[in-house]
Amino acid sequence: MNNETWLSFDKAHVWHPYSSLVDPPPVYPVVSAEGVYLTLENGQKLIDGMSSWWCAIHGYNHPKLNQAIQDQLNKMAHIMFGGLTHRPAVDLAEMLVKITPEPLETVFFCDSGSVSVEVAIKMAIQYWYALGFPQKQRLLTIRSGYHGDTFGAMSVCDPVSGMHNMFSHVLPKHYFADAPKSRNDEEWDENDIRSFQTLIESHRQEIAAVILEPLLQGAGGMRIYCPEYLRRVKKLCEKHSVLLILDEIATGFGRTGTLFACEQAGVIPDVLCLGKALTGGYMSLAATMTTKQVSQAISSNSPGVFMHGPTFMGNPLACSVALASISLLLESPWQEKISRIEKQLNDSLSTCEKLPQVADVRVLGAVGVVELVESPNIPQIQKQFVEKGVWIRPFRNLVYIMPPYIIKTQELEQITNSIIEVISSL
Ligand SMILES: *Cc1c(COP(=O)(O)O)cnc(C)c1O
Repeated sequence: MNNETWLSFDKAHVWHPYSSLVDPPPVYPVVSAEGVYLTLENGQKLIDGMSSWWCAIHGYNHPKLNQAIQDQLNKMAHIMFGGLTHRPAVDLAEMLVKITPEPLETVFFCDSGSVSVEVAIKMAIQYWYALGFPQKQRLLTIRSGYHGDTFGAMSVCDPVSGMHNMFSHVLPKHYFADAPKSRNDEEWDENDIRSFQTLIESHRQEIAAVILEPLLQGAGGMRIYCPEYLRRVKKLCEKHSVLLILDEIATGFGRTGTLFACEQAGVIPDVLCLGKALTGGYMSLAATMTTKQVSQAISSNSPGVFMHGPTFMGNPLACSVALASISLLLESPWQEKISRIEKQLNDSLSTCEKLPQVADVRVLGAVGVVELVESPNIPQIQKQFVEKGVWIRPFRNLVYIMPPYIIKTQELEQITNSIIEVISSL
């Protein structure tokens, strides 16, 4: 196929995320990626502001990450994890146990963030079942959340933006509290916890777990909230015998300024979901971690095993590159890099606040969000960004960036300048 043909084949036959095959918006063909740059087929280089959906924290084509995969590839690409084990999975598990809060000491590997959320939900339900509370099968969460696209995960996404209507007969019904309004840079407002408190008090007997994204709600609206909310949630969970699942798939591995966002609230979950940046953006891998309390209860009561086991569980290539990526992160001055990015985002994006097109600007760690008053035409605004040499993919009325941590000051400046120019032109 020549260039024209493969792109038109893409248009007619290949689904892209949340895409239409009737009137597909343009997609840009990428031939290679290096550092913070994506190279398009026409030779143009774009500075990546997205880290490929928040994963590629070290940038692309990193020699150490490439090497980790190559070394493992020469030994074996994959073996089943049932009845067999291997060093890459165990070494990675040891690393994850070491860097996460202490009581989290068991690791369940799976292939994607959504599946790690499914696994977390099943763990919570099976925990209560094992302890003799089979009626505890519901979840409590907050609005504006996002936990993935599979059915269990979708059932705890924001009911409106997650389109619960379309799937209403197959989605389990869970409880939704109002999302907190107090921001990370504001005073705590006691009213924020009311709706959550009412729900957990009235339905404690049916609720197995609370599931939340700590501090930063990602794809459900890029909202940043006060750590005090998380502390209140944790207290109420303890008081009412409900497990706390924290979904750190987007926030994990330094993105918000601490290795895990929950550290900023001093809150430790019973179950932790990791994904996205786990492999530095190289391969799909996720993990669900839990405490001895949960793993022992599940394992010592009927049916005596945890009921999940994906075919590609613990893939050795993915585990090897994940271990290399975490080591690379820990060896680097990552806190410094994130706080430099945070400061630069605060300084540069604050210019946007005055624009009539802008409703709000918020920054947390290496995450910068400009909320527009109206939703722009996405293909059109994306084209404008590409013309300015940057890769940014807004959704709804949110123009946001989550750049690789290795981004240089001038490169980030080019991104933020482009944002200001493009938004001003709307
Ligand atoms: C991306 C994301 C998921 C889903 O992960 P996938 O790998 O896309 O399945 C779940 N939760 C959060 C917070 C996410 O950002």
